[in-house]
Amino acid sequence: MATVTRTLRNLVDGEHVDPVEGRSEPILNPATGEQIATAPLSGAADVDRAVQAARRAFEGWANATPAERSLALLRLADAVEQHGDELAELEALDAGKPIEAVKADEIPVVADNLRFFAGAARHLEGLSAGEYMADHTSIIRREAIGVVGQIAPWNYPLMMAGWKIGPALAAGNTVVLKPAETTPLTTLRLAELAAELLPRGVFNVVCGHGDPAGQALVTHPEVDMVSLTGSVETGKWIARAAADALKRVHLELGGKAPVVVFDDADLDVALETIAGTGYYNAGQDCTAATRVLAGAGVHDDVVAGLAAQAQGFVIGDTLAPDTTLGPLNSARQRERVAGFVERRPSAAEVVTGGREADRSGYYYEPTVVAGLQQQDELIQREIFGPVITVQRFSDEAEAIAWANGTPYGLASSVWTQNVGRALRMAKALRFGCVWINDHIPLVSEMPHGGFKQSGYGKDLSQYALEDYTQIKHVMANLA
Ligand code: NAD
Repeated sequence: MATVTRTLRNLVDGEHVDPVEGRSEPILNPATGEQIATAPLSGAADVDRAVQAARRAFEGWANATPAERSLALLRLADAVEQHGDELAELEALDAGKPIEAVKADEIPVVADNLRFFAGAARHLEGLSAGEYMADHTSIIRREAIGVVGQIAPWNYPLMMAGWKIGPALAAGNTVVLKPAETTPLTTLRLAELAAELLPRGVFNVVCGHGDPAGQALVTHPEVDMVSLTGSVETGKWIARAAADALKRVHLELGGKAPVVVFDDADLDVALETIAGTGYYNAGQDCTAATRVLAGAGVHDDVVAGLAAQAQGFVIGDTLAPDTTLGPLNSARQRERVAGFVERRPSAAEVVTGGREADRSGYYYEPTVVAGLQQQDELIQREIFGPVITVQRFSDEAEAIAWANGTPYGLASSVWTQNVGRALRMAKALRFGCVWINDHIPLVSEMPHGGFKQSGYGKDLSQYALEDYTQIKHVMANLA
């Protein structure tokens, strides 16, 4: 497969444009550390140009019929599928993902998400119209919000772009999207494909860092809503900045998913699923199954079983078909992950892994750490790497207290054969999602989003579409 070395440009108003100040930076392949592209380092003037284009496009797009918007999104989904191999290669090279996983798990999902929102665009609902006061008819209109500034993370660059533009565009908004600074390739390619299918200015992409490009997007007076998938710290910054203009904010932030394994769980299935979803994408997943709470009767088997699973992963080049564990996205992220493990308390035991893999690129071995306490940093903070922790709980009440005992609330799972216990746990867990005897499956029809410091607003589902609309009450005096 050919190595990609390309000069990236922003995509604004349907055209490639260079950044106003002409600055750029190298984009690296995390599997080798080698440069694969240069990307624009955009500033406030570049963001302004994109926002003005989105503003000009808004009226036309918002007034297109739902059927017209739907058709455009269906065509974009087809284009994603048709260019699936190319997009998968770009994603593997830029984000450090094993290419076969992108082809199997991510490209089809992006296409399906876009198709879901294409369909959902055509049945946006409000309360039925009627007479709630004598001689007055009330009508509910659901309207687009305007220009939406969207900011994406580096762990699923293409999939997060799809999650963001799907509901926003379906509802009639126009978009300026800033990909993460290390992973712009597939988002720009998506925008190129979209430029053939959508009116000019409806979907614009501006590359650059949080400071200044992201901040300029959040604070731009012509941006009506801001949507971020990213860290809790960035989410708080954006919520504070957006408060000045009372902009609507949609935040999908970090997670620290508890995986509660009771003594009666089907351990074979549980361990395979936990390892598969804890180490997927090298653990750089906000719902990753990385915080295992195990009953006293199974704890030792869980630790040993996860260690065996971890040792079965194939670390390799992201373009090699048999690779199942790729690198972390950047040297900085690998340092961060290694730092958590190095700072572990003396009582903790690194059962397997716990070091950088012996090869070039930003690889870290799949790791299992046991013997931790609830207040330890490895339990409380999101690691965002291939590190699974295991704690031993004594009863259901302790499992619930520990599962809920972090600032996050994105996703969780419970493993038991006891239906009553599974449903008690599902009620008690304070997370936006609870899986029972599974972990991580998502469907376009169901919402994804957090409780607590994992943010607010939903991705996927009809709820996401509603988040990108505003409600208007029209009341007519019939007299
Ligand atoms: P990050 O917050 O550092 O960066 C995310 C994006 O925000 C990047 O595009 C970055 O350039 C931009 N940004 C940073 N500071 C900004 C600012 N002040 N104003 C505007 N934009 C700014 O996060 P990250 O490290 O790139 O991504 C990993 C995080 O994303 C993890 O915490 C992970 O859990 C979270 N995440 C959440 C979900 C979800 O659905 N909840 C999905 C994927 C990732």
